[in-house]
Amino acid sequence: MSKLPQVATTIFTVMSKLANETGAINLSQGFPNFPVDPKLIDLLGNMAGQNIHQYTPMAGAPGLLSRLSGLIARQYGRNVDPNSELLITAGATQGIFTTIMALVENGDEVCILDPSYDCYEPAVVLAGGIPIRISLDENFMPDWDRINAKVNEKTKLIITNNPHNPSGRIWGTSDFEQLEALVDKYKNILVLSDEVYEFITFDRPHISANQREKLKDRSIITSSFGKSFHITGWKIGYTVAPPNLMKEIKKVHQYNVFSVNSIAQACLSEYIDQVDVTQLGEFYKKKRDLFSGHLSKSRFKLDPCEGTYFQVADYSAISSDSDVDFCKLLTTEHGVAAIPISVFNADLRDAKKIRFCFAKDDETLIKAAKILCDI
Ligand code: PMP
Ligand code: GLN
Repeated sequence: MSKLPQVATTIFTVMSKLANETGAINLSQGFPNFPVDPKLIDLLGNMAGQNIHQYTPMAGAPGLLSRLSGLIARQYGRNVDPNSELLITAGATQGIFTTIMALVENGDEVCILDPSYDCYEPAVVLAGGIPIRISLDENFMPDWDRINAKVNEKTKLIITNNPHNPSGRIWGTSDFEQLEALVDKYKNILVLSDEVYEFITFDRPHISANQREKLKDRSIITSSFGKSFHITGWKIGYTVAPPNLMKEIKKVHQYNVFSVNSIAQACLSEYIDQVDVTQLGEFYKKKRDLFSGHLSKSRFKLDPCEGTYFQVADYSAISSDSDVDFCKLLTTEHGVAAIPISVFNADLRDAKKIRFCFAKDDETLIKAAKILCDI
């Protein structure tokens, strides 16, 4: 008996394990390989000596909540009440799981846009909801005709992910207008807006649900300090929701984790005001350009990358293998690990595209690109 019969070990675990076993350069699972900001290390050392080793208040350390509310105000011009609209979570993963558990009821339909990040559907299934997987178009942008055709009175939640993993695309204003029209038409629909790459955009600015008047009160927004501060292993993030929804989310959170790691919260509460998140896009843009520049003479064809730290590449000029097989071969035979895109599609549609993570030091990116150019 299994509550999740279709679910296997995540592709990130599979590919990172294979990369470690074979000594391949790991451009698969998304995490930085460069050192974190020394300021953060100093804070960590200082905090360890202070008396902050016990539970924080359930929803988060008050200092962190209020500074986070300041960050959201600076970034998006939205004033959120730290007491009733914010929650510190054990990564965005927990924010997403807890939100779905709190808000999705038996038989509710939940729209998920494919290719989709892998933690959405299992949470919906465990909550008794019905996942409705809808393909994005071939450029990984929303196909609103397709989405409109699937949304109905039974739809409870639409999960959006912008900037988008795995594609690196970002939504434009007209996409938000289309989403707002849907939310306007169906008064019960909520939006779970996964914005973990909110500060990693390059050529166009990120539009957040925090900035959209018509979405604010109908959206649960999740983000990840792991992505914004290069600390994925700390597993800490946050959720923003209007008070009526947050009240329900906290009911689940208190029995799911109760409260998040006190030291991490104390460090971030100091750090958040010492770091300029608006520089993050520029930082990763250089890495994107370095990696794509070095790949320009390869046989990989690169998709546009507007945000996140992922570069999608078409390998159809090199091989007709499935993307899963190609990624395994790339790792074991050539020494570079990547992520196949088909596993994020409910129908496993394989467009012969794979995802490289470029959150790596320059030396690693150049070394990997050299190998990829010889294939
Ligand atoms: N959503 C997306 C789109 C992601 O790429 C990730 C991976 N970091 C998460 C959620 C989970 O974030 P966290 O590591 O903070 O749990
Ligand atoms: N978000 C990371 C990625 O997309 C993976 C995180 C995980 O392994 N769960 O690569």
